Amino acid sequence: MQALYAEQALLPSGWARNVRLTLDCNGIIQRIDCNTIPHGARRLPGPVIPGMANVHSHAFQRLLAGLTEVADYPDDSFWTWREALYRLANRLTPEQLETITRYAYLEMLRGGYTSVAEFHYLHHQPNGHAYANPSELAECILAAADVGIGLTLLPVLYTYADFGGQMPAPTQRRFINDVASYLALYDALKRAIGKRSLVVLGPAFHSLRAVAQTQIDSVLKALPQTEIIHMHIAEQRREVDGCRAWSGQRPVEWLLGRFALDARWCLIHATHVNTVECAELARQQATVGLCPTTEANLGDGVFPAETFLQAGGRFGIGSDSQVSISAAAELRWLEYGQRLRAERRNRLWSPTQRSVGEYLYTHAADGGGRAIGQPVGAIASGRRADLIVLDSEYPLLAGCPTEHLLNRWLFAGGKQLIREVWVAGACVLSHGHHPGEHEITAAFRRVARQILNG
Ligand SMILES: [Zn+2]
Repeated sequence: MQALYAEQALLPSGWARNVRLTLDCNGIIQRIDCNTIPHGARRLPGPVIPGMANVHSHAFQRLLAGLTEVADYPDDSFWTWREALYRLANRLTPEQLETITRYAYLEMLRGGYTSVAEFHYLHHQPNGHAYANPSELAECILAAADVGIGLTLLPVLYTYADFGGQMPAPTQRRFINDVASYLALYDALKRAIGKRSLVVLGPAFHSLRAVAQTQIDSVLKALPQTEIIHMHIAEQRREVDGCRAWSGQRPVEWLLGRFALDARWCLIHATHVNTVECAELARQQATVGLCPTTEANLGDGVFPAETFLQAGGRFGIGSDSQVSISAAAELRWLEYGQRLRAERRNRLWSPTQRSVGEYLYTHAADGGGRAIGQPVGAIASGRRADLIVLDSEYPLLAGCPTEHLLNRWLFAGGKQLIREVWVAGACVLSHGHHPGEHEITAAFRRVARQILNG
């Protein structure tokens, strides 16, 4: 048992004062006392909020961040960016993948994420053949999580190039499995994970372009216990048009017609949804995984968050392409997208939570925790003590009324406001520093030079 103490902590009921958390030996919160004294508990040096779940990551893409901002074509888009991505994806060795991923996960801890769902679709050698150990690359992701971040590993089923079962291109051959090889990979990962306490395994389907309905049926039938299911959907207008040409329906409409999109489902992006789809997703309790900085960077479009949240929809946030690794930046862009569209301020809030930052942060943390299948996302009994401690010495927090604390961070501050990061009751980042950061950063530099100058 250990105990932590904070003068201010954001609980599900709002900000509380003089809060003592009692944790069990696995870092799970057993008891919360407010308006109390430390009684020997370790004091946390600033306002405490729940750690954020990153619901969608392709960690290796961190190496490409900021390298695709030179115009190649008059109509540059997601699809032209994807060509550069495939060039990188087809070069990486297992060691390089692990090094880049570990560095990206270190950055995530610095950016306020205490757990991450890795949407992992890089499975084979560059020639498309399986490695001697078919789970070689997925095990690199597992190894990289030793920075201390919670990991939800989502091996991705990717079979086809486009709607209607189009054969994959040579540039996609590292991604490709059929249902049998996918389930074998899944089983191998279950064994590799064993009883690791911070790791969860779940299935993912790349997109409706990449899998057939019969494949989704087969995988879900083989994994009846799964509590999470992730899939990219409706990210691009071209994808919506392609789906209509193939099926006569929009992607989310197609999915809603065939599956109960219950609380297990996390639909990544869902950018192009109409009002009916929004209401139905909210009603069936699926989570949407929004990645606003990636969606802005790729020119995807703006998710109708006001409509979705008014319908009672749930969401989490993700760093996806890693163009930004900052929980604050994702939430800021989520709100700003709605402001730019509405030509009004303060779009995402509720009558009981009028602070935009507090509304966004608590909903994203709670929805994200549920979407990644880990007991995180709120400071509450039974949840894991994944905590962010803001720096009360940071000038912008001096004299800051409690109701503005999160808005200072999300809209006006940055990573400097994060003083400590805790995962499962262990301090993994102190004064912004991680014990392994020199080694992890030096290894990343070496790999970046090998790949970019090699
Ligand atoms: Zn993605």
